[in-house]
Amino acid sequence: MMTVGVNGYGTIGKRVADAVSAQPDMRVVGVSKRSPNHEARAATEIGYDLYPADPDRTDEFEQRGIPVAGSFSELVAAGDVVVDATPSGVGETYRDLYKEHDTSVVYQGGEDPDVAPHSFNARTNYSDSLNSTATRVVSCNTTGLARAVTPLREQYGVQSLDATLIRRGGDPTQTDRGPINDILPDPIGVPSHHAPDLQAIMPDLDVTTKGVTVPATLMHLHSVTVSLEADPTAATVRELLNDENRIELISTASGCQSCAEIQEYVLDTGRRRGDVWENCVWADSIDVSDGRLSFFQAIHQQADVVPESVDAVRALCGAMDGEESRSTTDESLGVGM
Ligand code: NAD
Repeated sequence: MMTVGVNGYGTIGKRVADAVSAQPDMRVVGVSKRSPNHEARAATEIGYDLYPADPDRTDEFEQRGIPVAGSFSELVAAGDVVVDATPSGVGETYRDLYKEHDTSVVYQGGEDPDVAPHSFNARTNYSDSLNSTATRVVSCNTTGLARAVTPLREQYGVQSLDATLIRRGGDPTQTDRGPINDILPDPIGVPSHHAPDLQAIMPDLDVTTKGVTVPATLMHLHSVTVSLEADPTAATVRELLNDENRIELISTASGCQSCAEIQEYVLDTGRRRGDVWENCVWADSIDVSDGRLSFFQAIHQQADVVPESVDAVRALCGAMDGEESRSTTDESLGVGM
């Protein structure tokens, strides 16, 4: 049984904790938070042991009636692996502490790539992180691109990838990012940071990405164009993508024609927090002309990196090969609509 601590019980951390708990071969030894807020209270009510990240604030947790299980160092020492889901750039400040305790660590995409020897996507380069001490799951947008381009590369060869990422302005609880009423080229320069992030796991990929931020909290929408080395039909590309468990082909007949409708569907069918772990590719958007493939996909920023983080734990522990890990994760979570 692999033991896992979660540092940063926020948007990503709480989802990773639940996903790890659902695995047959993993156990959450505790979670850590800096602020004694509603998320800290909810964590203890769910049953997670809570370890304050800042020892000077332990009293604040206790004064608010939030039980504390021990010190942060004790949490780090208790885990074979820590999943660090602290805000962007904060994970790096814990690097020495993780090393001191000989605890492996899965960082998230808000950290610089050089925080770990490898960046990670379970479908693209699982084996690079086998038995390593640290890895970094690439960002939500990059995860979505990597999942789509990997089978295309394997099957047809890819000359280049060009993607416009229409990005949500913030997560639903990020009220400090609004109110907003604008459509921002973000950044104005090309490429956005997603192209080098994708090259962190596919160094030889010719890729350009552009970012646009819109006033939405639901999901990101990608408009993707791929120049293939072959000229398959749209139908065979649909079949190829349909064989990927973390890609869901959304048919027009399903009635899910927008990100809001996808979210409503997963909430209606009982997914906790409305999480969409899969890339949602609209089947009818897939078009190929002279080897130039284009499609739209929706990416749930809060959820797609969660199964990847679980697989990253297994890779660091050398517990399984990539295919077995992905299938164990997907079965435990119910990935695949
Ligand atoms: P978040 O702000 O929702 O959660 C971070 C949590 O860490 C909060 O609970 C906060 O209390 C806690 N925290 C703050 N400072 C801390 C410290 N010094 N020590 C321990 N805990 C601390 O952030 P998030 O959106 O979950 O992002 C976490 C990481 O995941 C970032 O690297 C981010 O780039 C990445 N990521 C976020 C998204 C997304 O859409 N939210 C998607 C993919 C990847």
